[in-house]
Amino acid sequence: MPELPEVETTRRDLEPLVTGRTITGVSVPDGQPGPMAPLSVAQFGDAVRGRTIERLERRGKYLIAALSGGVALVLHRRMTGNLLFARPEDAAPAFLRAVITLDDGAELRWQDQRRFGTWALADDPGKALSSLGPEPLAGSWTVADLAAALRGRTAPVKAVLLDQRRVAGLGNIYADESLHQAGIHPARPAGSLTPAETERVHTAIRAVLARAIHLQGSSARDYVGGLGQRGRMQEEWRVYERGGLPCYGCGGVIEKVRIAGRGTHLCPACQPALP
Ligand SMILES: [Zn+2]
Repeated sequence: MPELPEVETTRRDLEPLVTGRTITGVSVPDGQPGPMAPLSVAQFGDAVRGRTIERLERRGKYLIAALSGGVALVLHRRMTGNLLFARPEDAAPAFLRAVITLDDGAELRWQDQRRFGTWALADDPGKALSSLGPEPLAGSWTVADLAAALRGRTAPVKAVLLDQRRVAGLGNIYADESLHQAGIHPARPAGSLTPAETERVHTAIRAVLARAIHLQGSSARDYVGGLGQRGRMQEEWRVYERGGLPCYGCGGVIEKVRIAGRGTHLCPACQPALP
C-alpha cells in the first residue's frame, strides 16, 4: 500500500509536467463508478474543467492538486491507486478507472485494481486534512514532538506510528522498517520508550523515509511512480515481508507476528521485547 515515499515520488514525477496546465476534461470507462464518487463524473468534470493546476502538494499519504479558483483535488491511493502521466497514444494501463485530460493533450490516468482510492474536492485542503499529525520529514518535527505523541500511551509503539493523527504518512512497511532500524520491538508500550529510544525511532523514521524517496518507493506489488516506473526500496527491506529469513544484523530469524491488527515483521534479537 502506498505510503509517504510513494506519494512523494509521484508528486515529484508529475509536478514539472502538470504545473500550469489547465484541465480540459474528465472521463471514466463506461459504466464504472469513478474514484470521485459520490460525485458523478459529470459533476466532478464540471467542477474542475477550465481550472489550472497551480501546485502539486503532499500531506501524509494524500496528493493534493491546488487548482485555480481556490479548489483542490485531494487524492488518496488507498491499496492500489496509481496516478500516471501519459500521452493519448500511450497504451491504456490495466485497471484504468479515470482520466484527466490537460490542455497540452497529456493525460493523468488513474489506475486502481482494488478501487479503494478516492478523489475528493476541497475548498480548503488544510482544513479538510486538519486531523493529520505532523510531517515526519519536516524540519519542524522534533524528537520532543515524537516523545509527546508516545507519552503515557499503553498502545504498542507501532500502533502510535500508524496513527495518522500522531505522525502523518507512515504505513505498515515503513513503520516496521523504522522500528527495526531503531532496535525497538513494535509491541513495546509507546509510553515505555526512554528518551534515547525515542530519539533512535525519530532518527530511523527520517532515515528510512528519505532513503525510500531516494529509491522512488517500494514496488513489491502494485505501486509505480507517476511515470510508470518501479521503485527499488523493496530491495533494501530488512524485515518487511522477510518472515523466516535471516536478519542482516544478527543472523537470527525474522518473525512475522500480529501487532496493532497488522502483520508485523521484526527481529526478536535486535528488537527485544523488554527494554
Ligand atoms: Zn537481528
